Amino acid sequence: MSQLTPSAASGSILCLSGHDPCGGAGIQADIETINSLGGHAACLITCLTVQDSRGLQALQPVDAGLLAQQATLLMDDLSIRAVKLGALGSAGAAELAAALIRRLRSINPALPVVLDPVLSAGGGGQLSDRALLSALRSTLLPLITLCTPNHAELQALSPANQASELVATGCQWLLLTGTDAAPADAPVIQHHLYGQSGLTQVFDCPRLPESYHGSGCTLAAALSFYLATGHTVTEALPAALAYTQQCLEDARPLGQGQWFPQRHPPRS
Ligand code: PLP
Repeated sequence: MSQLTPSAASGSILCLSGHDPCGGAGIQADIETINSLGGHAACLITCLTVQDSRGLQALQPVDAGLLAQQATLLMDDLSIRAVKLGALGSAGAAELAAALIRRLRSINPALPVVLDPVLSAGGGGQLSDRALLSALRSTLLPLITLCTPNHAELQALSPANQASELVATGCQWLLLTGTDAAPADAPVIQHHLYGQSGLTQVFDCPRLPESYHGSGCTLAAALSFYLATGHTVTEALPAALAYTQQCLEDARPLGQGQWFPQRHPPRS
């Protein structure tokens, strides 16, 4: 497997994600991933959800004022090397994330920020509304180093459904993940990386037989770890994809629906 050695003490990765009580996705996926890779996750839980491996039934955003108080303490205390954004739960949390990134970048202009623009749960059910989508597009995207939408999320973020448009007007890099677009019998899933000069690289990953809860969270969290430890986007991607593939190959059917990635340290 492709593996990178952290090139610097990793400090902390600030994660803003939702809580998934069944433990496959969201903030737990971020913590497990970052920990198993050797990093430390500091966490702002943006929303609570009612869900299991079969789908999402309800979402309760956490008050953005409370998140701001937590963030203020963390930023004074910890050395934040990267920010990872998952389900934000409300437009208020997206605005707060933008303010935090601006403040952190005033100290470290190169701070990497990964956005997994989670709009719905893997098993079904909405994790976003119109106001959040609008805040993602107008406020957050221009601050993002690497955005990792699937095809449905790209369509929601870009009315023209164009990855190159989002890169031209917003984030620096975009990884269009292909699981939701691959035909059922396709032997590989293709992920497309777009940079400022357009399509840069295509990654083929062997298709696995199941559907997995928290696979996108795992990939984005692994990317944030590799970027936090000093790697470039083109170095971080093969390592994060290989790590995610390993977690999915070892996944377990713990519930009645999607399987749960097993986030062990990377095999060497
Ligand atoms: N974050 C939260 C809180 C979730 O509940 C979910 C899905 O249920 C996700 C993120 C996205 O999960 P996945 O990586 O399977 O797309």
